[in-house]
Amino acid sequence: MNLILFGPPGAGKGTQGQLLAEAHGLKKISTGDLLREAVRAGTQLGTEAKRFMDAGELVPDSVILGLVREYLGGDAGAGFILDGFPRTIAQAEGLDRMLAELHQPINAVLVLDVEDEILVKRLSGRRSCPNCGAVYNVYFDAPKIDGRCDRCDSELVHRVDDDASTVRRRLQVYRDQTAPLIEYYQRGRTSPVHTLDGDRSIDEVQAEIKGVLQL
Ligand code: AMP
Repeated sequence: MNLILFGPPGAGKGTQGQLLAEAHGLKKISTGDLLREAVRAGTQLGTEAKRFMDAGELVPDSVILGLVREYLGGDAGAGFILDGFPRTIAQAEGLDRMLAELHQPINAVLVLDVEDEILVKRLSGRRSCPNCGAVYNVYFDAPKIDGRCDRCDSELVHRVDDDASTVRRRLQVYRDQTAPLIEYYQRGRTSPVHTLDGDRSIDEVQAEIKGVLQL
């Protein structure tokens, strides 16, 4: 099963995607995580991408498509979950081309809907584990030991682009450039689009996703 997870930054794509991936053996491909990894490793791609990321802007489509191409090929296994990709019409068209070559469909598009005010609070309180990818929130879902990952004990980080003004820019970019993709997939009609209320507990959202996907 191949899925796309849409939603503004902070809607819970990473958390929900990780739960689904673990439960069903799916490969989660998060372009944000891949880019952050490249930044940490100091690769040329990472250096190029960093200035866009820190400003809350999108990294150019050609860079993103090259990155995804590397990860989509190979063993398809049980399927994949795309988290944070595609984010523009050009990326969606590029994805369509790649999937046609690989003879892989997108079985469903899930949209997590959350209001901006809540997103700003979620993101400003967000702390994530650079090692295992676990995500916490100091307001709603704090780790047991302040600043350390419950799972692997690594030091948690607060992303540079999670500060309030960058978050507002990222929300604007989502509304302008990414939200139109929902209509793109609705028009295409080949992949059903399900919009879910993301302003609920992690378990409630996950249960609804499983219901919608009949898992
Ligand atoms: P995320 O973790 O998905 O919120 O992504 C963090 C940042 O990485 C975004 O604000 C963008 O600068 C960049 N990024 C991640 N995915 C994409 C994408 N598909 N297209 C363009 N930029 C991206």
